Amino acid sequence: MGWQDYLDTNQTRFEQELLDFVAIPSVSAKPDHMPDVERAAQWVAARLDKAGIENTAVLPTTGHPAVYGDWLHAGADKPTVLIYGHFDVQPAEPFDLWLSPPFQPEIRDGRVWGRGASDDKGGMFIPILATEALLATTGRLPVNVKFLFEGQEEIGSPDMPPFIAAQARRLSCDMIFSADGLQWTADEAQLVMGLKGLVGVELIVEGAQADQHSGLHGGGINNPLMALSQILASMKDAQTGRITIDGFYDDVVELTVEDKEDIARVPFDEAEYCAELGVTEAFGEEGYTVRERLWARPTLELNGLTGGYQGAGSKTVLPARASAKITCRLVANQRPERIAELIAAHVAAHTPPGVTARIEHLAGDADPFLVPRGHNATQAAGEVLREVYGADPYVTRVGGSIPIMTLFLRALGVHGVMFGFSIADENLHAPNEFFRLENFRRGQTAYCRLLERLGR
Ligand SMILES: [Zn+2]
Repeated sequence: MGWQDYLDTNQTRFEQELLDFVAIPSVSAKPDHMPDVERAAQWVAARLDKAGIENTAVLPTTGHPAVYGDWLHAGADKPTVLIYGHFDVQPAEPFDLWLSPPFQPEIRDGRVWGRGASDDKGGMFIPILATEALLATTGRLPVNVKFLFEGQEEIGSPDMPPFIAAQARRLSCDMIFSADGLQWTADEAQLVMGLKGLVGVELIVEGAQADQHSGLHGGGINNPLMALSQILASMKDAQTGRITIDGFYDDVVELTVEDKEDIARVPFDEAEYCAELGVTEAFGEEGYTVRERLWARPTLELNGLTGGYQGAGSKTVLPARASAKITCRLVANQRPERIAELIAAHVAAHTPPGVTARIEHLAGDADPFLVPRGHNATQAAGEVLREVYGADPYVTRVGGSIPIMTLFLRALGVHGVMFGFSIADENLHAPNEFFRLENFRRGQTAYCRLLERLGR
């Protein structure tokens, strides 16, 4: 029997097993679900064993555990592939909006309904089943495979940076595939080439030592709220949308003609986009399409402003202090620390007389991520997606960050490839999460083909 037949023959069992897996309420955010996260880890380790994966272990971190397993008998001339996913899930509240209970999953309309069915239990189960099918029918895997599954992705993987650094030898590999990922639509594939980074600062402007009466001191001293507005306004050109902080764009990798063609090929209706958001028109950096700006250009956004009187009616206060929260989405090869420094230098150079201004660098830095063109694992993934979807995948980017990808790049020196089969409409963090069984099955074929292709 070939692996395709094996997958077909065993699909009903796989679906039942997925229901068992989803039934474990491994909510990483909630302390009272700690034992369930542990139980999910044990389930995954046992399932890897059953698939024929070796050296399986539940590995402790300072928080929720991770699960490791490998099969390393393909030979030294074959690549070693690390496959990643997560077995923790989002909280399921509000429970009353679920049509069937989140942790009593069921199959309806060709879909598995339950918390984590799509993100990421269905997704991370797929490559396990692919290796089971290959091992059961051929007795071996075409490449060396390592699995790493974590139990804290949904809370931002707080313990993973030190864990992965400490486990770098065990996790060393030539390629990484993340089974926690999306395809473009239920029938159209995508290859994610870039993710944005992030840096956040708070800008604090101070004047008099306490709030003052504007009739007594207005005109006598500067107003921190006005000064803050002036500094902020100096950061971006109101007409062109260009960020005017010196050096801000210096490290940006410009889009090539090829990059622009890839982005233009992805369907996008600007009028529909504006109508959906309820805005009169799109706005952003001149010289780039909306999609280019969303995916491949850095941004600077104000997220919050405080200062002065916010209550009903008016109050003739001359505030002592004003502040703003600012975040920038970054693109390769900008660095969060550098951008925070540039903002601080800009503020120092644009602070009006009579007030002081300072920048506090907030937590949450993320590096941008860009897969180099011609990257071997990405090309292989693209070819497999073309085979299983019958069309070229869209070449896309993401405006947000996925910390594990930058973590792998930093700690292991490998660009990961998103190779997951969920769809954005599957209510990933909402009530009535579901996973399409056709993509559960298609993903298994895709992983078998991927491992075979990498072994050639
Ligand atoms: Zn996920």
